[in-house]
Amino acid sequence: MKDNKPTPLVLSASKLGISKKSVNSKALTILNALHEANYEAYLVGGCVRDLLLNVDPKDFDIATNAHPEQIKAVLPSTRIIGKRFRLAHVHFGREYYEVATFRAPHDNSDRGQVGKEGRILHDNVFGTIEEDAIRRDFAINALFYNIHTDEILDFAGGMEDLEKRQLRMIGDPEARYREDPVRMLRAMRFSAKLGLSIEPQSEKPIRELAPLLNNIAPARLFDEALKMFHSGKAGSVLELLREYNLFESLFPSTEKALQGDDSGHFLSLINGALKNTDKRINDGMSVTPAFLFAVMLWLPMKKGEAAYRELSYPDPQGMQLAANDVLSEQVKHTAVPRRFSNVTREIWLLQSRFSQKNCRRARLFVENRRFRAAFDFLCLQAIAEQNAALQADADWWEEFQVASEERQVEMSQAIPHVKKKRRRNKRRKSKGSE
Ligand code: ATP
Ligand code: MG
Repeated sequence: MKDNKPTPLVLSASKLGISKKSVNSKALTILNALHEANYEAYLVGGCVRDLLLNVDPKDFDIATNAHPEQIKAVLPSTRIIGKRFRLAHVHFGREYYEVATFRAPHDNSDRGQVGKEGRILHDNVFGTIEEDAIRRDFAINALFYNIHTDEILDFAGGMEDLEKRQLRMIGDPEARYREDPVRMLRAMRFSAKLGLSIEPQSEKPIRELAPLLNNIAPARLFDEALKMFHSGKAGSVLELLREYNLFESLFPSTEKALQGDDSGHFLSLINGALKNTDKRINDGMSVTPAFLFAVMLWLPMKKGEAAYRELSYPDPQGMQLAANDVLSEQVKHTAVPRRFSNVTREIWLLQSRFSQKNCRRARLFVENRRFRAAFDFLCLQAIAEQNAALQADADWWEEFQVASEERQVEMSQAIPHVKKKRRRNKRRKSKGSE
């Protein structure tokens, strides 16, 4: 790119309806400090794209020609992180903003290095703004906003793509997906979240290259899976991932179970859960990855449990073993941290408690810190399976958890098997005392 610099299209930001006012004050502090020290500093990537699309940006990323040490000299709260490619994190207490020095593209063979399948091995070279623009993934992610000149710089046709509402990979799509297969997942996320189509040339290689995701570190795939399924558009994400054969690299046992599930109940369960998750996110409520994994791996776990039952393993040991099997297989694809997978396991194991309606035990269960998640799971299952017994359980617990103490006793006594069990316990006790 040295001899053949792309000239950017320069547009007036205010004419496009964006101004400093839409930018977070801490990001402004950083941009102003770098500008005053005579460095170039731009907002870049997702925040510029989102501002132009009238979407609230998730974060404000900054790109500059200042090197990390120079950034630190201007903004002393900077921490320099990363070995291969040093990045500056400018801290405001616990919160921080990423400030990246312009980076050269990887395909510059005398500087970056590319592995056998085209995957980037080293990515550690500073570059010019032009180089920084074209090493980015999609053209709409390569827009730079200079708040001091009120300019948007477009090096790759991102503005035209925004008008067409399309995602287009910069450069040769196949080579760019090979360099970093996660870009295929990013295409799904942006397409679902922003309602963009994927331009035909950028779309074409995806199905065939999908298996390259199997070479990506499971920890990175876990992060990407969360970004996708907690994007507020998880339902569309699932459809797209399955359509492009990408889902099976992330959740292989789920895909297999979906294909073998003629009843369609499992897909209904997943879709119901994703709809809830989307609603919670769009209402600003919290969500936990544990629930996502409890849903995605439910049928594979139930199948495993049934197999253990065939081998005469007693309950709940069969479920415990099946849960271990399914989760330890899943972490090979998306590295679910234990703090989440332990909760996933709890949500599953607690399902058997919903049929136990002894008053004292039921009260204890309602107090359990996982009750809410386990109960939400039960409700989704009842709807997905259109299962009257599960629905009756769900209705009972819905009432019980908010009922008065008298009503709780009444509700518990109205359950025939609870009465029977009480009689049985009494008999057992009197036998024991004989
Ligand atoms: P959001 O923050 O809303 O998830 P984003 O586009 O800002 O979307 P980030 O992961 O924050 O995504 O990345 C910031 C920018 O860095 C992107 O807009 C893009 O320009 C560049 N980028 C991120 N990941 C890649 C990648 N895998 N390949 C090339 N460029 C990337
Ligand atoms: Mg971002």
